[in-house]
Amino acid sequence: MSVLVYIEHAEGSVKKTSLEAVSYGKALSEKLSAGEVVAVALGTISSSELAKAGHAGAGRVIHVNDGKLSDGVIQAHAEAVAQIFDKVGAKTLVLAKSSLGDAVAARLAVKLNAALVSNVVELPETGSGYTVRRSIYTGKAFAETVVTAENKILAVKKNAVDLKTDGPEAKVEEIALTIPEDNFATKITSTDKATGEVLLPEADIVVSGGRGMKGPENWGMIEDLAKELGAATGCSKPVSDIGWRPHHEHVGQTGVKVAPTLYVAVGISGAIQHLAGVNSSKYIVVINKDPEAPFFKAADYGIVGDAFEILPKLTEAIKAQ
Ligand code: FAD
Repeated sequence: MSVLVYIEHAEGSVKKTSLEAVSYGKALSEKLSAGEVVAVALGTISSSELAKAGHAGAGRVIHVNDGKLSDGVIQAHAEAVAQIFDKVGAKTLVLAKSSLGDAVAARLAVKLNAALVSNVVELPETGSGYTVRRSIYTGKAFAETVVTAENKILAVKKNAVDLKTDGPEAKVEEIALTIPEDNFATKITSTDKATGEVLLPEADIVVSGGRGMKGPENWGMIEDLAKELGAATGCSKPVSDIGWRPHHEHVGQTGVKVAPTLYVAVGISGAIQHLAGVNSSKYIVVINKDPEAPFFKAADYGIVGDAFEILPKLTEAIKAQ
């Protein structure tokens, strides 16, 4: 009885969130004494890249190397994964919580008559079923969900599990599947891709500025730091409301929800509505001149001081490394 992990890829690389899902699958498989973790990848990507999923814990990667299975054919992905789930005799499917993951998982749950639990943050307690801990209310609380269905789908929250990196390369096995044509009825025929900047929702590092930055003319300091870190830039809601920054950069409950490895908040007070968009970040660094700013309570590292002094020094120090 294998644990199957559905992995996503973009621009020739397996997504980090999917590698986290593989590591989760590996730990689950060890807990269940379930044998090797099998990952499944669909569409065009190199075997050498897929073999790296082994570092995260996959013993084998089944690759359906069919260009028709490019992103956007969600129904076809669900059909392909369902076929492989049966083929390998899996009872549990693990995947990353993401837009594509959500869409595929919902369809798979119907196809496999499986229980689907999303936003999973820990390994389940196992017995006759699973007791799964998941994050709810934008990370403010946890719920324990008891799953008794034979087939189970667990969508793992970004940054919730440690990424394993020391496994040997996985065996990659290419297979062909027959997927009925009606699964390709909906397709994305063209996409516009922003270039030259890191996209906020997917960014691994975000540098965000608030009203403490005083005005749009000072945003060069945020951008300089972001450039050195390879980060996306974000802002608080009032900043985009006033028009200092575009609305698509507004982070929070009513804006973009981010889950980077590192979130740097500069001159942002840390109102609950802002925190709702950032509390899935792995590490939070806060720069604020007010030691009582609420954001410090959510911070892993805090610098009390004037952003206009700290930002240039920080950027220079990173540049010098
Ligand atoms: P302020 O609260 O004005 O804080 C500025 C901070 O900068 C202060 O902490 C200050 O000490 C610090 N500072 C000033 N000068 C310096 C300096 N030189 N160096 C360093 N620090 C300095 N907000 C969001 O961000 N996202 C949301 O999605 C969102 N949704 C909302 C939804 C609702 C229904 C409501 C009612 C509000 C929402 N808000 C949201 C607004 C939120 O409540 C706060 O008002 C907002 O986040 C405050 O933005 P700020 O921290 O940039 O500004």
